[in-house]
Amino acid sequence: VIEIRNLHKAYGALEVLKGVSITAPKGHVISLIGSSGSGKSTLLRCCNLLEDSQQGDIIFKGEPVKWQGSGHGRRPSDAGQVLRIRTNLSMVFQQFNLWAHMSILQNVMEAPLTVLKLERAQVEEAARRYLDKVGIGDKCDAYPAQLSGGQQQRAAIARALCMEPEALLFDEPTSALDPELEQEVVRVIKDLAAEGRTMMIVTHDMKLAADVSDHVVFLHQGLIEEQGPPETLFGAPKSERLRGFLSATY
Ligand code: ATP
Ligand code: MG
Repeated sequence: VIEIRNLHKAYGALEVLKGVSITAPKGHVISLIGSSGSGKSTLLRCCNLLEDSQQGDIIFKGEPVKWQGSGHGRRPSDAGQVLRIRTNLSMVFQQFNLWAHMSILQNVMEAPLTVLKLERAQVEEAARRYLDKVGIGDKCDAYPAQLSGGQQQRAAIARALCMEPEALLFDEPTSALDPELEQEVVRVIKDLAAEGRTMMIVTHDMKLAADVSDHVVFLHQGLIEEQGPPETLFGAPKSERLRGFLSATY
């Protein structure tokens, strides 16, 4: 679904991604791991064009992003394409970013109504279905502040699903949560993986990465240091840096 080729990204003089290539085929779950500052969030944000990049290609369903300008002046040139890619790669953040003044149901319905301009009755039906699916169908009329962190994050996942995206991008979906609430969210992510959803997950939770991924990528200082199936990456890590990282995080 999404393919990144030789991506370079710098903030001013700070090179954050130094030529990263990753492919997320349909139905696959790719996890991104690596130390703080290695460029994981930046990579996800570049994927759905929330960040500009200076070099390399981003290909969505076989369609390469069209650019204008070059280097620090490079920008996507086709607004329709940007919108198509953003709505098809739904992002779930560490901080759930729900709208405090809207009920949970309204939060989930908002983007399909305003961005996709779908019909209200149809959107409401889908929103209720996704809230049920993540186990908070009884919270439709509650406001975000009335929910636990785990419930808010599940609402954020329902909101992402309600866009019927081609793929979901998760940026540390469990790291703002207490361990017991974390498990509720992990369960939802596992269900989505089992359904064959295409996902890219940035996580500090090595158990989650090992359980759900088809492929794990270890980023180190803006480069892929090692990658492979979880059994190999966690079971027989080759690089010294990855071994060090794993022994520090487990
Ligand atoms: P963490 O595990 O802490 O979330 P990460 O791997 O997600 O780390 P990024 O957030 O991608 O790391 O950041 C990579 C580097 O880019 C860091 O050195 C960070 O300080 C820098 N950076 C990130 N966002 C910006 C920004 N908007 N402006 C300038 N520098 C930034
Ligand atoms: Mg990050």
